[in-house]
Amino acid sequence: MQIRRWHDGKILAQQPLMDMAGYIGHRGDYHDAFLRAVRDAGIEIRMGCEVASYDENKPSITLADGTEVVADLIVGADGIKSKTRELVLGFHDAPKSSGYSCFRSYFPGDYLKGDERCKDFVSQDSVNIWIGPDIHLIQNTLRDGKEVNIIMTRKLSHEEDMEIKESWFQDGDINEVLALTTDIDPRIRAAVEKIPGPPYLLDWKICYRDPLPTWVSKSHKIALLGDSCHPHLPTSAQGASQATESAGALAVCLKLAGKDSIPLATRTYEKLRYPRTRLSQRNGEDLRDRWHNALKNLDEGAEIDPESVKMRNRWLYSFDAEGDAMQRWPEMSSRVSDELRAGVITPLSDEMV
Ligand SMILES: Cc1cc2nc3c(=O)[nH]c(=O)nc-3n(C[C@H](O)[C@H](O)[C@H](O)COP(=O)(O)OP(=O)(O)OC[C@H]3O[C@@H](n4cnc5c(N)ncnc54)[C@H](O)[C@@H]3O)c2cc1C
Repeated sequence: MQIRRWHDGKILAQQPLMDMAGYIGHRGDYHDAFLRAVRDAGIEIRMGCEVASYDENKPSITLADGTEVVADLIVGADGIKSKTRELVLGFHDAPKSSGYSCFRSYFPGDYLKGDERCKDFVSQDSVNIWIGPDIHLIQNTLRDGKEVNIIMTRKLSHEEDMEIKESWFQDGDINEVLALTTDIDPRIRAAVEKIPGPPYLLDWKICYRDPLPTWVSKSHKIALLGDSCHPHLPTSAQGASQATESAGALAVCLKLAGKDSIPLATRTYEKLRYPRTRLSQRNGEDLRDRWHNALKNLDEGAEIDPESVKMRNRWLYSFDAEGDAMQRWPEMSSRVSDELRAGVITPLSDEMV
């Protein structure tokens, strides 16, 4: 992974991919692996069902077609715009702008292969990041150069910040992308010029949410998971990873608590997971700020310390979420038992050390 200077592509730092020994994969392939495992376990998946409302005490969900589904526990893994989160919090939680917006483009690698200036990007898998004041652009390939991903994150002006709505599917304007990249390294500029317009180009305002005081409903029988309770900035590169860890930890808690003690499981789960996900969220903010400020007020030719622009994700990877839940279960579940008995659950922010 090369971290480069915005205007000429000079390599400022190099490090293993995402600061780990690993691979970048397409989310569709990752999703597929989950689906296969769920099907192999004989678990039914119902597609195309919109959850319209909840009864948190039964607990149950009611689908848009009126069908009610009752369960021992409901897990609201319904993403950044989660309906479940409102139920858990008891109020409408408005999205908060992060002050940044992303142009996201994903297109066939063949578009770049014929151009001498950019064919290196697709001759094999590659990851390059160009950083500049208040802006960065990430280019990577997938499937051995067959597909290209370009994501550009920029700071919004106050007016833009007020105007852009939170949406994952707002068409991007290629002219705006071209205007923002007039002074970028000519090699990646040549690639940017080949970005097909929508639907290959999206303009995505990055919204964020304040940390929640709880991930679990008052009845203790509805729990949030993933982006619904711990959304990450793209610079964390951790949203799906942390969601997966949380799922592993919740499963361990349910197994250890047993079916008759769902409240003990859900309340222990949130306390076990909150501090780690907060640190991982902050990691993304820190990296974005380091990238966007590294070259500000620097004289031409001034060197920067490569360490100052590297990802610092290594500590996140060598972690066994299930093992951690098992190890800390006795102490944490005993605290939670006391809280449940007293009827006073401490807010999650108190879990940070
Ligand atoms: C540009 C970009 C780059 C990223 N890079 C990385 C990365 O490198 N590494 C990483 O780990 N993560 C990354 N992420 C983050 C990752 O995609 C998310 O964190 C992850 O998808 C969250 O999973 P989730 O299951 O919590 O929510 P989602 O994936 O949002 O899934 C929620 C699901 O719930 C459904 N739903 C919502 N409401 C209802 C309802 N009422 N009824 C029925 N269904 C409903 C939605 O349709 C959706 O299918 C990136 C994200 C973006 C946008």
